[in-house]
Amino acid sequence: MKLILLGPPGAGKGTQAKRLQDRYGIVQISTGDMLRAEVAAGSEVGREAKAVMEAGQLVSDDILIRMLAARVDRPDCAKGFILDGFPRTVPQAAALDTMLASRMMELDAVVELKVDDAALTDRIAGRYTCAACGAGYHDSFQKPRVTGVCDTCGGTRFSRRADDNRETVGARLAAYHQQTAPILPHYAAQGRLQAVDGMADIDDVTAALIALLDGLVTGR
Ligand code: ADP
Ligand code: AMP
Repeated sequence: MKLILLGPPGAGKGTQAKRLQDRYGIVQISTGDMLRAEVAAGSEVGREAKAVMEAGQLVSDDILIRMLAARVDRPDCAKGFILDGFPRTVPQAAALDTMLASRMMELDAVVELKVDDAALTDRIAGRYTCAACGAGYHDSFQKPRVTGVCDTCGGTRFSRRADDNRETVGARLAAYHQQTAPILPHYAAQGRLQAVDGMADIDDVTAALIALLDGLVTGR
């Protein structure tokens, strides 16, 4: 299964992608995570991306398209993938079409997680992850069962993203509305666009996604 999860920053794409991976035997491809790994490694791409990311703007299409093309060719993508954070511009969506067509691949669905802008600032400001395994949490909406201990791996160190602050949210939402939302009609025209209410509780969003995706699998 090949899927795109679309939606503004904080919509729940990463949270849901992690839950869907195991169920469908597919991998989450988060371009944000890939870029953060480049920044942490101090690579040339990372050095170029760091300031852009911290300002809440988008890294260049060239870098992202090259990065994604190399990623989908890795063996763990053989059964499919969930794109989380890509494409984010019309040129990225066009490049993805070409990339998939040249590999005889087709998208099964593009799912938009719909969340009101007003809810996103609190989601982003309260987000943190386990430093050991990357499991995602939230100060109010998704606390670990035992305070300070990761549910998934038992880790006790957590981290927050450099760009997850109230100051950058405005820039990130503006980038979403100006540069990313215009790709929605691109996928609507292809008949692939579906929408799920991302304002619902995390488990309810997962249930809605599973209902939609199971329907696609049985409808094949
Ligand atoms: P994205 O990957 O779209 O940027 P995340 O999946 O990282 O968003 O979610 C952002 C934050 O909001 C996380 O801390 C997560 O725990 C929380 N969150 C995700 N989905 C919901 C939801 N449906 N309701 C409340 N909080 C949520
Ligand atoms: P995310 O983890 O998806 O919230 O992405 C964090 C940041 O990484 C974004 O604010 C951008 O600066 C950058 N980024 C991630 N994916 C892309 C992309 N597809 N195109 C451009 N920039 C990206």
